[in-house]
Amino acid sequence: TVEQGGGMAGTAHAAADRQAALQHLRLEQAMATALERSEFQLHLQPIVRLRDGRPAGFEALIRWIRPDGSRVSPGEFIPVAEQSELIYVLGHWIIRESCRCLAELDRQVPGAAAFLSLNLSLRQFDDPALFPVLEAALADSGLDPRRLRLEITESMIARDADATLQLLQRCKALGAKLSVDDFGTGYSSLSYLQRLPVDCLKLDRSFIGELETSPAAARIVGAVARLAHDLGMETVAEGIETPGQAARCRELGVDYGQGFHWAPALPLDRAAQLLSRDQAA
Ligand code: C2E
Ligand code: MG
Ligand code: MG
Ligand code: MG
Repeated sequence: TVEQGGGMAGTAHAAADRQAALQHLRLEQAMATALERSEFQLHLQPIVRLRDGRPAGFEALIRWIRPDGSRVSPGEFIPVAEQSELIYVLGHWIIRESCRCLAELDRQVPGAAAFLSLNLSLRQFDDPALFPVLEAALADSGLDPRRLRLEITESMIARDADATLQLLQRCKALGAKLSVDDFGTGYSSLSYLQRLPVDCLKLDRSFIGELETSPAAARIVGAVARLAHDLGMETVAEGIETPGQAARCRELGVDYGQGFHWAPALPLDRAAQLLSRDQAA
C-alpha cells in the first residue's frame, strides 16, 4: 500500500504527523502557562427544574480566556490535557474551584442551596491524588457533599467494570452524587445501571435536538425518563434550545433541563444574579 511503500505519500504523511505533534506540544505548553497565569475560569450553566422552571443547580464548564480575549474551547484543549499529566493539575484546579464557586454562591445567595455538577475525565481515575483532593476541597469549603455531582461518561464505565465500580463507590463514600453525562451516545451495555451507584442520567443533546421532529427521539427520551425513575435516578435533558423542547421534556417526565433556552455557562457573578432573582420572585 501507499503507506507501507513510503515515497511521496509516506513523506507527506510523516510531515502531517510531525505538524500535529508540534501543534499538540504547543497547546500543552500554552496550557501549563495559562494555568500559572490564571487564564482558566469555571463558568456555570443553570440546570432548571422542569416542573417549576426554577434553577436548581449548575454545571461547571471550564473556559480558557486568553489575555487578548480570545477563547480556546474545552473540546479542543481537554483532549490534549488528557494525553498528559496536565489533566491531573487541571482536574485538581477544577475540583477546588467548583467547591469555591458553590460556597461563593451560598455566600451571595443564602438559602438557595443549588447543586453543582462537575465533569471528571477518564484519566482522572488514574490520578492517585483524585480522592484526597476531592476530600480536601469538600472539607475546606464546608459544603454538604451531596450538593456535588460528579459527571462521568459511559466510556469511563465501559473500560473496566470492576475497577470502575470501586472508583464510583469511593465517590459515593465521599457523599457526592454521580451523573452519567452524554447518556445514550456510548456503546456500553445498559446492565451497568443496575450495578453502579448512579444517581442521575444526563440525556445527550442529540436526542433533544430531534425531539420536535422525530417521534423516535421522543420515545427514547420518554423511555429513558421512565427507566431512570424506576431505578430511582433523576434525569437531565442537555442542550434544550427552544420552549417547545423544554415543554416536551417536561411532558415526557424528564426532571431537569439545561441549555441555551435558559442560559449558556455564566461567570460566577451572573450565575449568582440569576439565583438571587429567582429567590426574590
Ligand atoms: P458536556 O459535559 O456534555 O457539556 C455540555 C456542553 O454543551 C458544553 O460545551 C455546553 O456549553 C454545551 N451546551 C450547553 N447548552 C447547550 C445548548 O443548548 N446547545 C448546544 N449546542 N450546546 C450546549 P463546552 O463547554 O464547550 O464543553 C464541551 C465538553 O468539554 C463538555 O461536554 C465536557 O465533556 C468537556 N468539558 C467542559 N468543561 C470541562 C471540565 O471542567 N472538565 C472536563 N473534564 N471536561 C470538561
Ligand atoms: Mg458534562
Ligand atoms: Mg453533557
Ligand atoms: Mg453532551
